[in-house]
Amino acid sequence: MARIVELFSTRTGEALSMKVHEYQARRLLAEAGIPVPPGEVVSGTREALGAFGKLSGRVVVKAQVFAGGRGKAGFVKLCEDAEQVRAAAEFMLANRMVSPQTGPQGVAVKRLLITEAVEIAHEYYVGMTIDRAKRRPVIMVSREGGVEIEQVAARNPNAIVKEWLHPHLPLQPFQIRKLTAALGLAGDQAKAADKVFRGLAAVFNRYDASLAEINPLVVTSDGRLLAIDAKINFDDNGLFRHPEIQALADQSEENPHEIRAKKAGLTYIALDGQIGCVVNGAGLAMATMDLIKLHGGSPANFLDVGGAVTPEGAVEAFRILLAEPKVRGVLVNIFGGIAKCDLIAEALVAAAREVGFKVPVVVRLEGTNVDRARRIIAEAAVSGLVTADDLTDAAQKVCAAV
Ligand code: GDP
Ligand code: MN
Repeated sequence: MARIVELFSTRTGEALSMKVHEYQARRLLAEAGIPVPPGEVVSGTREALGAFGKLSGRVVVKAQVFAGGRGKAGFVKLCEDAEQVRAAAEFMLANRMVSPQTGPQGVAVKRLLITEAVEIAHEYYVGMTIDRAKRRPVIMVSREGGVEIEQVAARNPNAIVKEWLHPHLPLQPFQIRKLTAALGLAGDQAKAADKVFRGLAAVFNRYDASLAEINPLVVTSDGRLLAIDAKINFDDNGLFRHPEIQALADQSEENPHEIRAKKAGLTYIALDGQIGCVVNGAGLAMATMDLIKLHGGSPANFLDVGGAVTPEGAVEAFRILLAEPKVRGVLVNIFGGIAKCDLIAEALVAAAREVGFKVPVVVRLEGTNVDRARRIIAEAAVSGLVTADDLTDAAQKVCAAV
């Protein structure tokens, strides 16, 4: 994810977004009238050479992975001839790409986009996201686009110009004029930029995107405006309206625990700390994570079992959580309502028998059938399971344990 959007969205917000590859995002932009250089997606070196033959002149070979920072990592290569295309394709398909956005283990590359190379005169940044603080979509542009945009955003935020959209209105002509002027474009290029801004906003709205970025948008040496890179994330909660977007999902690039959770009807969000959280409801998840932080701990994830959890789903929740090696302790915080406490207690006991609790599991249950739940837990006498009187007690116990 481009770090620039972290100005606006939390890790949790982006985790609830579906990502697609550049070749898919650029197709959506092209359909909205945004010009992109011709290109072809391939999955092998021979195919890459075939694509090079069909395109004219120099090409760019680009790894198709969800993480950004490809250019700096050597996974976007300008190639003059077939030999260079072969070398670039072989290298990218054989090596994992490591960038600041991948973590040290990097990501495998299974597909390449081969595009016609362009002569770049200038690189701009154009992006759109939801500004949560202002509760509006925001479109952002910068004259200093390209691979340094994160540094630009950090060092000189004034170099990024923003226009907030009315939630129910399209991008207005006066806003387009401001954005175009901010990029210093005039004449035909201003007209072309108008189309790019409208196209980006249209794609963003139409597909319930959470982020849509063109970085760089370039002016070529012969004066054309082209989208050279494309990134679109889609709000998971809007996906049911867009089966054509759902069909683009590439599960091989997603967190395997998140996929497993989704299959079981659970919501799993991976975070950076050591404490696994099992909760029901997103609000309770937030409160639980706040409390963990307050007592000096840090959440490794949260797993929301929701209201309509089944016994099998609840056991699967514990399996997923305990399979994550960075989890050093678990906090189960359930307020039994529709999801009853005894069902969770039975799932806990079943999970303990099946996988064993190698890390302490602190349990705070309250609400419907809590007495029955407490009896189930007491009778099972599961080792590693710690009961808590209330939420503060639970947070203190789990933080002390890790
Ligand atoms: P990213 O590093 O993952 O964001 O990948 P990009 O697709 O944005 O490419 C990175 C950089 O490669 C761009 O900022 C350009 O400087 C350069 N690049 C990409 N395509 C071309 C091209 O067709 N011609 C030239 N000259 N440079 C390109
Ligand atoms: Mn880029």
